[in-house]
Amino acid sequence: MFEKEMAQLRELYRQGLYQPEFYSRRIPGEGCFADYEAFTKIPFMYKGEIRGTTAYERTTAKKDEVYGIFSSSGTTGNKTYYVYSKKDKQVHEEFVKSFYTELGIRPDDLGGVFAPVDTGVMAHTMMWQYTTMGAGYVNCPEPSPENMIDVVSTLPVTVIATRPNVVCTIAANPEFVEKAQKSSVKKMLMGGGFLSSERRKLIERIWGADCYNMFGMSEMFGPMAGECRQKDGQHYLEQYLMIEVIDPETKKPVKEGEIGIAVYTTLWDKGFPLLRYWTDDLMVIDRSPCKCGSRHPRLRYKGRMADCMQIEGKYVFPEELENCLMKHGFYFDYEARQEQDGIRVRIEKEPDQEVPLQMQQEIKDIFQLDTTIEFVAPRQLGYRGHGPRFITAALGRMDGSE
Ligand SMILES: [Zn+2]
Repeated sequence: MFEKEMAQLRELYRQGLYQPEFYSRRIPGEGCFADYEAFTKIPFMYKGEIRGTTAYERTTAKKDEVYGIFSSSGTTGNKTYYVYSKKDKQVHEEFVKSFYTELGIRPDDLGGVFAPVDTGVMAHTMMWQYTTMGAGYVNCPEPSPENMIDVVSTLPVTVIATRPNVVCTIAANPEFVEKAQKSSVKKMLMGGGFLSSERRKLIERIWGADCYNMFGMSEMFGPMAGECRQKDGQHYLEQYLMIEVIDPETKKPVKEGEIGIAVYTTLWDKGFPLLRYWTDDLMVIDRSPCKCGSRHPRLRYKGRMADCMQIEGKYVFPEELENCLMKHGFYFDYEARQEQDGIRVRIEKEPDQEVPLQMQQEIKDIFQLDTTIEFVAPRQLGYRGHGPRFITAALGRMDGSE
């Protein structure tokens, strides 16, 4: 298991990639990479430890090898900065070319980046992905419904990169939907959260475009995994990224094809190397052949541990609730709290929107516990497109990535 990866890691060790104390304190010697069994003795790396160090305490990149310094989005406190090396930029380009050649992104495309441009890496990697494909791009750093429609009505934007909830905000305005459909937008590249099947249908319907699910994280870059035209799991380049899928209870690898926590190890001389990085992402790895012909494995991201409920030994994900709500025309925000006496679900709705009895029953069926449903006005829940949708008092937030 992971024999090739262990050989790559031994080589990186010999090159001195893990010399900074941040790494060396967890690796007593090269023997840690002798085989996978030895590798599993290396303690997991948690977000909290990263926050306790500066960007330059986690890198061996020399000053002339630095491409830039970027950060997490900072939604959960102070920003964490990461050194991105020129090599990281090259590796990013390899990922991008692998995913977007398949999706047909070309030099004559004009990409839209509907995300705030700050030190956060997300918007930057979205820009790099277009330039890597030789395409042009335009930024829409405040993607309100009005601003998005203005950009696509006045410019020949063909592809949009953003978070899934951002492009849905035009759904309630028929005039905006008509303009979106008349625009030249043909493809949507979604990142920064899960994409439920019903949300994908909604986006494809209101924008008249094909919607693809991409996956990334600030600690590496985006996209680090991406859907092909089959829209059935996200391929990743396993020669650069090793993903262990770990049982959160036993901390041992799950059986092939089972769900667990993704633990990432990067396999190149990365500016900020990840070594058994525990991210809180729940996923399944699929190594079966894909209809697209790609030999790369696929990951299926299910959501975050901090954003799911465990009810009678079973995981319940926001995606299930979202699929139900969207199917019944509830496109705004929602949340669910696990409380002492059951589940409290809060859903945003328009004042005159009717609530189907069928939907209420389906929500109760999802949680299988006493479920109270409340409705509030749009934009009351304060969800910023990134925080947890499910709040579980007992579990609390595990130390996940941003
Ligand atoms: Zn495929």
